Amino acid sequence: MAPRTAAIGVDVDSLHHYYRIHGLDETAATEASWAVGVPRFLDLFAELGVPATFYCVAEDLDRPVVRDYLRAVVAAGHEIGNHTWHHRYDLVRLPAEARRAEVAEGRARLSAAAGVDVVGFRSPGYTTSAALQADLAATGHTYDTSVFPCAPYYLAKAGVMGWMRLRGRHTESILSGPGVLTAPRRPYRSHARDPFRRGDGLPQYPVSVAAGVPLIGTAFTALGQAASVAAVAAGLRLQRHLTLEFHAVDLLSLADDGLDPTLAMQPDLKVSVARKRAIFKAALGYVARRAQVARLADLAAGAPHSAA
Ligand SMILES: [Zn+2]
Repeated sequence: MAPRTAAIGVDVDSLHHYYRIHGLDETAATEASWAVGVPRFLDLFAELGVPATFYCVAEDLDRPVVRDYLRAVVAAGHEIGNHTWHHRYDLVRLPAEARRAEVAEGRARLSAAAGVDVVGFRSPGYTTSAALQADLAATGHTYDTSVFPCAPYYLAKAGVMGWMRLRGRHTESILSGPGVLTAPRRPYRSHARDPFRRGDGLPQYPVSVAAGVPLIGTAFTALGQAASVAAVAAGLRLQRHLTLEFHAVDLLSLADDGLDPTLAMQPDLKVSVARKRAIFKAALGYVARRAQVARLADLAAGAPHSAA
């Protein structure tokens, strides 16, 4: 039997998105996601010896300093994924032309800046649609990892619903929709008319849920080390592949990094960097010792389900 596999993703959402969602003055936003969060994840992954995928927003490249951090990610051997051009939370509701531009320009600009071919996609706020899947396939993407089949109940239980909502206005409604909750938990090819059903379309790597726990950074922080390790252990027992998701802000802290107190509404930003790093290291280390950790682009290229 093929070895178990795991993929680690980091969505690099700049702080100004969080301000914008709440209608706050975004001039207080700093470059901490890129300048502090990303290097901390690079350091953690280097220590664990695992590759990852950083899903990036192309408009960030307009800030020259971001290009340096992007190149550092590539130089460390990690994959760059497309997290769209402008991180529009209403992506699936945009007119077709604008939606296609978000996808196509995101990939083109990130590829040019990184000097590598960007082929993977993660949607802002985990939203997708049949039309978006068609756009991805038509613009050269080889996989998508935007489906998050997790009931709000479980997120509320893990205490992460507020953070989830902050990350996408539509998260709640999408999560509540019947489609995504019945989506396959394992990697699959999406159906041309329904991205949450199996078909022969683009490979989809859903964000993993194991024993009711979404395998994401905020959930790990809320659960603590022992329960996080238990969650990934359950995932590895039940599934051949795990897709774990983090955000660059997951390794930021209000106190350690002197962030704007406005962000204190998020409980995990009150947790110290040292504590969160220890939790993530324990959970990821457990996975790395028992599964082949690989970049999703490589898995998508070699996976049986992606064979034409
Ligand atoms: Zn995002």
